[in-house]
Order: sequence, then C-alpha cells, then structure tokens
Amino acid sequence: MIIKELSPHLANLIAAGEVVERPASVAKELIENAIDAGATRIQVEIENGGITYLRIMDNGCGMTKEDAPVAFKRHATSKISTEDDLSKIGTLGFRGEALAAIASVSRIDLFTKKRESLVGLHLHLEAGKITENEEAGCPDGTTIIIRDLFFNTPARMKFLKKDFTEAGYIISVVEHAALSHPEISFSMIRDGKQVFATSGDNKLITPVFSVFGREITSNMIEISKFERGNITVWGYITKPHLCRPNRSMQHFFVNGRYIKSKLMGAALEEAYKNQIITGKYPSCALFIDLPLNLVDVNVHPAKTEVKFAEEKPVFEAIYIACKNALEQNDNIPVLNKKPKEDNITGMQQVIEPKKPKVQEEIKKEPIENPIFKLNKVKLSPVIKPPIIDCDDDFDTPVNEVKVCSPVVDMAKVEYKTETVIKAKPEIKQEVKQEIKPSAKVIGEAFKTYIIAEDKDGFILLDKHAAHERILFNELKKTTQIPVQQLLTPYIAEMNINEFEVLQENRETLSKLGFDISVFGEKSFAVRAVPAYIDMADITVILSEIAEKLSNYCTPTPDEFDDLIHTVACKAAIKAGKATTQMEMQKLFDKVSNDNEVNCCPHGRPVMVRLTKYEIDKLFKRVNQ
Ligand code: ADP
Ligand code: MG
Repeated sequence: MIIKELSPHLANLIAAGEVVERPASVAKELIENAIDAGATRIQVEIENGGITYLRIMDNGCGMTKEDAPVAFKRHATSKISTEDDLSKIGTLGFRGEALAAIASVSRIDLFTKKRESLVGLHLHLEAGKITENEEAGCPDGTTIIIRDLFFNTPARMKFLKKDFTEAGYIISVVEHAALSHPEISFSMIRDGKQVFATSGDNKLITPVFSVFGREITSNMIEISKFERGNITVWGYITKPHLCRPNRSMQHFFVNGRYIKSKLMGAALEEAYKNQIITGKYPSCALFIDLPLNLVDVNVHPAKTEVKFAEEKPVFEAIYIACKNALEQNDNIPVLNKKPKEDNITGMQQVIEPKKPKVQEEIKKEPIENPIFKLNKVKLSPVIKPPIIDCDDDFDTPVNEVKVCSPVVDMAKVEYKTETVIKAKPEIKQEVKQEIKPSAKVIGEAFKTYIIAEDKDGFILLDKHAAHERILFNELKKTTQIPVQQLLTPYIAEMNINEFEVLQENRETLSKLGFDISVFGEKSFAVRAVPAYIDMADITVILSEIAEKLSNYCTPTPDEFDDLIHTVACKAAIKAGKATTQMEMQKLFDKVSNDNEVNCCPHGRPVMVRLTKYEIDKLFKRVNQ
C-alpha cells in the first residue's frame, strides 16, 4: 500500500499554503470572521509586520466553550451546512478552513465570550494542537492573537517581505474591510501607533476619506445607488483629472466582498475613455450587489476572485453608472485648503461630496453603451478587454529558426560591440548567406540610420532597432547569457520598492547575467552585468527590470523573454551614437542575413528599402 491518507496536521499545512500566504491573509480571514460574527467594532494590532504578533479584537457574538475548540478543526464552520447553501453564500467565510490552517502554522491565544455567558474561554494552541483550555474573564466577543506566524514552516517565512511591506498589506486588508463595512468601526495599530481608523457611522464617505485621503476624496464623484436589472452599483470614482499612473487605488467589491476583477476594472476604465491620457488610471471604491446565486465566490481559496454567471450585465451596469456619473458631474478639480491639524482618521473632517444630479433622471435615460454595440467579441467567452494590459507591446519573434545555442565560454568572451556582431551561430550564418547577398554600407544619416546600397536600390537600417533585435534573438537562444565581470563593483542606488523586488528575485537576475549583493539599505553592489551593457545604464536597467518583476510572481517564459528584451534594448547601440564604418557594415551584414530580424522586439521596422526604380521615378528617369 503506497497511498495513504494525509494526517490532519499535514492536510492543514497544505491548506495553509493556499489560504495563509502572508500575515495579511491571516488578518483578512480573522477580520472576515469578526464581520461574520456581527461585530460593530474591530481592532487590529500588529508588530513586526504581523509576523511575530497579530491581534484581532471584536465585539461580535463570541463562541461557546464547546464550539471554540471545534472551530480550529479543518472544515468546521457554522456558516453552511448543506450543498444548497454553497450556491448562495452570504457570509464572508464558508470554507471552514481558515482557523485550522492559521493554527497549523502559528501559536494562537483565543479569548472568547458570548454575551449571555458569565465567563469566557481561553485556548492556547501550538502548531494546531490545543495545549491550554481554561475559563477566563474576558469581554464579550472574540480576541485572537497570532504569534510567530510560520515558525514551523521556514520555507514560507523566507517568502515574506520586509516588516514594513507586510504591514502595508495588512493595512490594505483593513482598508478594504472598512470600505465594505462603513457601519463597523475599525482601528489599526502598527507597532503601537494608530495608522488607520473609521468611526463606523455607516456613511461610506467616512472610510473613503480614511483610505484615499483629503485630496482625492474631494475630487471624487459619488455614485449613489444605480440600478440596472438585478444589479446595484454605488460608490465613489475619481474625476478624470485626478487619474493615477497605476491601478493601485481601484477597489472593487461584490456583495460586500473585496475582489480583484479585470471585468470591473475594464468597465470602469471604459467609462473614462477619451477623458484620460493613456497610461493613467482612475481610482475608485466601487460596489456592486447582485443576487447571491449569480456570483460564485468559491473559485479561489483566498476568495479574492469571483465568477459571475453572466459578465455582460455586470460590465454594462458599471460602465453606465460610471459614465452617467462622469457626464452629470462638472468634473472641475477641487482645490483643498490644508487642514489645521493632521487627522489620520479623517473622521472629524468628513466632506460632503457633490451629489450627482437627480439619479432618477439618469435611470430613465440610460446612455448608450458603445462598447457592446461596436465590439461584441470583447464579451465572450471571458472578457479580455484590450484596455487591460495594453501596455504590453512586446512582440515575440515569429518564424523561429532552430539552431544550436552558441556555447559561451565566460572566460573568453570579449565584450566590445564587435564581439556582439560576431557572436552568431555558425550554422545559421551559412544558411542565411545563401538567402541574401549583403549590400554595401555607404554612410549614415542622423547617426541613426545606416544607408546601404545594392543593385536594386538603397536600404535604410535603424541602427538601434536592428541591434536590439539581434541581441534579443541571441540572448533568447543562449542558455547562458554572456556576462561581463566588473573590475570594481558598481553601486546601484534603488528606491525601496525596487530594492525589495530585486532582492527577492536575485535568482532571475542572475539568469539574466546580473550578480548583485545587498550593499546598503537600498543599494546593491553590482559585480557582473550582461555583456554589452554600459555602466551608465546599470541603474536604469535594474529599475526597469524591477518594475517588470513587480508585476510577475515568478516570471513565466514569456515574461522572461520580456526581461531579456529589456536587457537587449539597453545593450543595443543607441541611435545618435557614432558608429564606425566597420561596425556599421558588420551590423548591416548580420541583419540582412537574418530572416528573423525584420522588426525590433517592439514591432517597429528595422529596415526600409527604397528601390532604384522608385528613385529613378522621382527623377523622371523612367516612365510611370
Ligand atoms: P469559516 O469562517 O469559513 O466558517 P473559520 O475557520 O474561519 O471558517 O472559522 C470557523 C468557525 O469559527 C466559524 O464558522 C465561526 O463559527 C467560528 N468563528 C471564527 N471566528 C469567530 C469570531 N471572531 N467570532 C465568533 N465566531 C467565530
Ligand atoms: Mg472564516
């Protein structure tokens, strides 16, 4: 018998891998439990980014001394009991695995008391095992303290970021909870200092103010309940002038649950179309409610994604609600007076945003929804609107010619431009030479375009685009990117985010040819870089790579290509830089002998041909 059932502890550890990724996921589960328990006050306190200490205190219904130990069992839940319940989940939790999973990777103290009970209960758990179970005097509700998260799973621990970053993720979790529950008073304490709070006055503007701050909040448009079919949309969206360079301030909620949704983002952004510059994004706290059976929340262990039974009505409702709100509003920027005292909670200075004009009117005459008229394809089967990820203009080369990768002997590779041009697999060179005899380089225009001549006419070659493409193709084919060791380490100063991303991705960087080690608080000592990279470009290229890496978890092969492309782009000779005649001819020969080099990795053309016939025509040497 080689197949065995996993022990409950092992099963919990595996579940923990899915549910408990980092302290913020613990905070999310525990806050959700507190909300489900009907709390009106929830306090979150953390130390060291929640890694050593995370406490969630609520004044909810509490648990009996019989129920509490069961809550830590896997698949123990009070929220659903029949299969039927699964299709209409109204609580935040339902999987019954959070407490068991969290308990398996931490030390827990739980204090809980039901209002009607005289005394409460204290449980202590170590790695999922209850080691203390005693009566305790405690307030109504539940307080749960998680200590030393991942103490028994060091591999998990390694993936955690700096305390400050982890704390940031927890703050986001609290913000989302506060936005979706204006009726609950939240407070968040980090290392002894209150960093976020809401009053629980049941006005959405209160958490909106706390989350977005004064400047953005006073430039937001309110969408009060907009109904379309069985979908209700409401919330706040920013005026077009206040758009941001990323989507980090787009918060979407479905039936009170914070979710990540490309669909909702696409609908929002579609409403701003032609009102904001490409590359800028609106911010929002947007809520939709729809019948529970039209949305499946059980598609992701962390419950941050949902599946809509029908996407089109959701898209339309959001699009029209936002478009109407934007059209009804004057969209004039509001300038803010600085408040006398700084107020992190935002509770005392709640501002009254301008209400959109009569909402009834809007309902009567919904504006047309152009996107569904023009392009129905966008809706099915899964909406993948072009406005999402449209910044990716990277073009993977087609017509791959399979050749052996050149084996690069690190010790022997020279790193001058000439070497680049020579470093071509021989087989390929032979094959290609039969295809095209090369033209003669006769000069260069604007230090950008190489001009070559053959019997049929002129060829203009974009120096940078061509070189970039050649490098890209070569780097892609080799298993070992050639590197150049630096005689003295180069110190690259990064910003804190870049620093953290790069530090986490040292392995990927090393595959790309970078050898970096931490040098200061935010700087690296760079000891090796990919061949052909100019010293002056090191910081720039590292920060470009950091930006890309921050969007990937572990780069997929396509994403890795994208990184290679970044390297190739920086390594390629720049337009505007003088190139010798010999270098030009070499580059030209290489390009004209390479079928794959017809456009740069961005898709821009590399060569343009002006035929002799066309030139003769210009000079009227031939008849039309
Ligand atoms: P789920 O939330 O999916 O039911 P959990 O493991 O998070 O699963 O919690 C298990 C059970 O413990 C819940 O169903 C609930 O009955 C109880 N529980 C957890 N946290 C609290 C709390 N803060 N207050 C009251 N009951 C709680
Ligand atoms: Mg739960």
